[in-house]
This record gives sequence, C-alpha cells and structure tokens, in this order.
Amino acid sequence: MTAKSNLDEFNEWIENRYPHHPEFLQATKELAADVMPIYNAHADYKRYNVLKRLSEPERVVHFAVHWMNDKGEVEVNRGWRVQHSGLIGPYKGGLRFHPTVNESVLKFLAFEQSFKNALTGLPMGGAKGGSEFNPKGRSDNEIMRFCQAFMQELQRHIGPRTDVPAGDINVGAREIGFLYGQYRRMHNEFGGSLTGKDIDFGGSHVRTEATGFGLIYMLQCVLKHHDDEIEGKRIAISGAGNVALHAALKAAELGGTVISLSNSRGSLIKEEGLSSADIRWAIENRMNEDNILTALADERGGSWFKGEKPWGCACDVALPCATQNELDEPSAKRLAGNHCKYLLEGANMPTTHEAKTLIADAGIVFVPGKAANAGGVAMSGMEMSQNAAFERKTFARLDDELKAIMTYIHDRCAEEGKEDDRVDYAKGANITAFRQLANAMVAQGV
Ligand code: GLU
Repeated sequence: MTAKSNLDEFNEWIENRYPHHPEFLQATKELAADVMPIYNAHADYKRYNVLKRLSEPERVVHFAVHWMNDKGEVEVNRGWRVQHSGLIGPYKGGLRFHPTVNESVLKFLAFEQSFKNALTGLPMGGAKGGSEFNPKGRSDNEIMRFCQAFMQELQRHIGPRTDVPAGDINVGAREIGFLYGQYRRMHNEFGGSLTGKDIDFGGSHVRTEATGFGLIYMLQCVLKHHDDEIEGKRIAISGAGNVALHAALKAAELGGTVISLSNSRGSLIKEEGLSSADIRWAIENRMNEDNILTALADERGGSWFKGEKPWGCACDVALPCATQNELDEPSAKRLAGNHCKYLLEGANMPTTHEAKTLIADAGIVFVPGKAANAGGVAMSGMEMSQNAAFERKTFARLDDELKAIMTYIHDRCAEEGKEDDRVDYAKGANITAFRQLANAMVAQGV
C-alpha cells in the first residue's frame, strides 16, 4: 500500500470516529501526514498499530462541577481531564478555564502535549484539562470556590506520579494556589501534584516566564541556523497573557523591536517598539487581559486598533501567542505580502491549516507550537524534579537549563526536518516526537 493511500485510510478512520471534533481532527491529520513515511517504513509500527493508537486518548475523564456563586446560587459547569499518553512519563499538561473549552479542544491539546513533552527529552506523558467556566467578571471568592469544586473531582485522577496538571489560559498563579490548596487538604501531602505553584510553596523560579522566554530562545536558535540575528528585527506578537508578555519582554531585552500585543478586542501597535520598561509595566499592573492594553497605550504610548489583529503590520517575525486558529488565511496573506520571514507559534496550534499552506508557499520559516512553546512544560518538568528532590534551584541556573532545552529541541527538529534548501520544523518536530512515542509503544507491548 502506498503512503498516500495509508494516509487516506487513516483520515477516513479518524473522521468517521470523531466527526464532531474539528480541532482534534486538524491536529491528528496534520501529524499523520508528516509521519506516514516513517510509519510505513517500520514493520513494528504497523504491527503494533501505533498511529491509530497514538491518536486515541488513553482516558477521558468528564465530571460535573457544582459550586456556589456570591449570590448564593448554585451553578453547574463541566470539567474534563484528557490523559492522552502515559507512555514516557506521568500525564502532564495544563488546565484551561474558557468558554471555548470542549472535548474536541482538550483532546487536540492533550494530543499536542504528548508530542511536545516528548520533544523536551524529559520523562513526561501528555494530558490537558479544564472547564467551559468563564472566570471573567467573577470575584476572587467565586474563583476560589470554583477551583475547590473542580479539584474535589479532579483529585481522584491525579497525583505526583500519575498526572500533574499546571496552568493554561485563565489558570495562573492564583488558580493554581486554590487548586493546590484543595488537593493538599484532601490528600494531606505536600508535593508535586501540580506545577506552576508559587515560589513560596514548592514552585520553581522561571516557571512564569518559561513559555515566553523559551519561545524567544527558540527564535534565537532558528535565526542563528539561518545566519540571522534578533537585533533590530520587527516582531509582531498577538496575545496579552503570560506567554505574550514574557516573550515580548525577552525579545525587547535582546534588542528586538516588539511592535504589537493584542487581545480579543483589538491590537496595540507601537511602531517604534515597546520598551522592556513598557512591558514590565504591563506585567506588574496586569489587571486582566481585556483592559491592560488600552491602559498601556494611555500610560506609555502606542495606538489602539479596535477589532484588528496585529498581522497587518510590516514585521520580520510573527509570534501568535493567543489561542488556537487565531491566525487565518487573510492574516497569512498579509504576513506574506509584508515579507515576514519567521513565524513561531507561542500558543498551541494558533495557525489554521489553510494559513499554514500559505505560510509554506511564501517561504516563511514556520516553527510549530509543540516545539516553540515547549519551554513552559519543560520548566514544569524541572519543578517536578525539584519537588521530588526537595530542592530549589536558582533563577540563573534554571534559565540556563531552559536555554539548553530549547536548543536541544531546535537541533532535533532541524536535523529531522532538514530538506534540500530549507528546514521543515513542523515535520521535524512531528517525526522526532512520533518516533520516540512509537518506539515506547512497541517496546511496552500491547
Ligand atoms: N499549558 C502549558 C502548555 O501548553 C504548560 C503545561 C504544563 O506546564 O504542564 O504547554
């Protein structure tokens, strides 16, 4: 059978199985297209049916979250934990609280996480969880009661050697504190049941900064590989959360010109570049992602473009750091028309399938989220090892370790994705991670 017909067969199989899970289909089909030649070349991979088995989460836990709001009314939300693959380590991945959360989104995120975590070289399986709960406009007490109710159910499925959640969109230090407190009270144990904890109770230095900083360290590796450098590069960033702000800070510190940040309501553009002081101001005064950018424009200069995405700006580097499928075909056309050269995904799968084709045709170097944003989970892995060893490493040491891991990921992807005159980082990332997971699957039998 040809690689093509095997791919058609796989696509048909997964489409029939999950017709109502579009994001999950997008992620699995893209990976299958890249790894099919490797799959076909290995008799054991076929014999153990590794591609289909890796496309099916090992476990999907779905639970109800009952909690009381400030008015004394009882609300009900849905919660999930998708434990996608425990082949190479405890399940590991963030929790997302957002109205767009559903089973398809969490399954795609858990699938991506398994491959991302494999790329770090650390022993971590892949998972993702969350709720369609919208924290916007909720009081601190409501957030606390929701987190406690969520953990009351989740706790029976996780543990330091089983599954270690962390934060993701709308789950930051405050939520991790509430979730961790509930887990600790119920289990009477200190330790690595969650990562992203406060530094005062078992958290790790650099964890907050790691996804954004790691993205810029990856950018440096990619630029170096193309005999280029960050100094003076015009960098467009979308998003205004943890990843976007820390990527912006590191890029500005290294001499890049950060021209934008954005949220769901519009974009802040500063043509001369946001200074590190501007970005620090945003990090320190962060009220929420909705109003920080207009406040930043008012306080420190820059123009606010209501309803606009930042991809219309002339830039050398695009860093989508908001959410899945935010960068669509029209955005890709604008980036190509403006001669953008590099696109690194700070968010998970922010580029639509159609936009990726345009990006490739325009010769823009593309680095997928599973490689580019792996710094966050890599530092989570280091938080787990510090917890297990009852130690705390210094910021400087962990920052160096982060740089080393991002370089390691870059080099593995560049090597595997090497083509005649270019590097296909997406293919390199997919093949590298798939090979590791497939080998583990074969070795562990059925
Ligand atoms: N949510 C982050 C990600 O998408 C971090 C996950 C973690 O630290 O476990 O990779």
